[in-house]
Amino acid sequence: MKIMVLNSGSSSIKYQIFDMRDRSVLASGLLEKIGEPDSRLTHQTRGPEERFETVEKTAAVADHTQGFDLINSVLKETGALTDMTELAGIGHRAVHGGEAFTRPTLINQEVINTIRDLIPLAPLHNPANLTGIEVAMAGAPEVPQVAIFDTAFHQTLPPHAFHYALPQELYRKHAIRRYGFHGTSHFFVAKKTARLLGRPLGELSLITLHLGNGASAAAVQNGGSVDTSMGLTPLEGLIMGTRCGDLDPAIIFYLARETDRSFEAIDALLNKESGLRGICGVNDMREISRLAQEGNADAQLAIRMYVYRLRKYIGSYAAVLGRLDALVFTGGIGENAAQIRYETCRDLEFFGIAIDEAKNNQRSREAREIQSPESRVRILVVPTNEELEIADQTTLVLQKENLV
Ligand code: ADP
Repeated sequence: MKIMVLNSGSSSIKYQIFDMRDRSVLASGLLEKIGEPDSRLTHQTRGPEERFETVEKTAAVADHTQGFDLINSVLKETGALTDMTELAGIGHRAVHGGEAFTRPTLINQEVINTIRDLIPLAPLHNPANLTGIEVAMAGAPEVPQVAIFDTAFHQTLPPHAFHYALPQELYRKHAIRRYGFHGTSHFFVAKKTARLLGRPLGELSLITLHLGNGASAAAVQNGGSVDTSMGLTPLEGLIMGTRCGDLDPAIIFYLARETDRSFEAIDALLNKESGLRGICGVNDMREISRLAQEGNADAQLAIRMYVYRLRKYIGSYAAVLGRLDALVFTGGIGENAAQIRYETCRDLEFFGIAIDEAKNNQRSREAREIQSPESRVRILVVPTNEELEIADQTTLVLQKENLV
């Protein structure tokens, strides 16, 4: 059984095809710069002996419809698929499901309309996701398609965690509340942690830290998310590559008043020019670590601030949970930056958190534990795999709907 996972951005389409018999990747690819004269498709197909062969194509791809056709033809050419109808289903990554979607959902016209209604909550992401869905539904009408929402895992947040202290009317009329994102990743690593610890997820209290370009923390209890650091939008919470995370909201008015910036300019400033980049000019953690080691004071400050914010969230989520079984690191930084993990966990013995430096420094692509023997809290590094989680969830929906 083959499942395609599609992640459609405003000018890109990312895809993977899984063989669900063993959940392995058969093919994957990224089409970039849609709408430009030099759109580029980089496609990989699994060949003999598990080796991946790469095909690159540069051609003007005017829109997502042409992009989907190009991907279809490359899949045929490379033997990854004989035809789209060979797919048991397509799973779409969808960013904002609002309060309407609490679980993966089989897509029909009503679902499309609801995702469209949610555009004001995610003006950048939902239109691109919708385009991907509509193009794939038109290009492969006989293949069942499922939407997997980044917000869905956090729909278990209790009201005292998801409300902002604003007039209630704003929630009722404009749906202003905390939604949270990266849900697919938080859920994936939480489940994997439960398997590794040999205990049901429902019995565990976890803090999961997804640290990529975007970053968020989640407190997980009774099998669901009970709090998370991103809010109405992915701007709130931890310090990220280019996003500021938590901020005194009055800074926005101050900026508008004192610097004459428009709200669009402030939006761009907080989302694209802040975070690590704002502090030290660079948003790639590898580069920042290198600069810090060379003695660059801004890079050193960026790392200290990044870690400090993380520790504040760990402390507050430990209080939220009342008990902590495991702290889980994932995402490009969480999986690879040993120094960040070390600085985050050091001197937290009073919380029962004690990291083992040697284990922490070992490089591996496998999920692993890095706490020292006396640590009451298990500390894990769990590589995330959002695409595989989408493929799994798509399969579950197809099974439930008797479509496979
Ligand atoms: P995205 O959110 O775009 O999926 P990733 O999860 O790939 O991003 O994370 C990207 C971040 O991970 C970047 O800041 C990058 O510098 C960092 N990263 C990747 N590898 C390493 C490494 N070996 N050491 C430190 N940071 C790393």
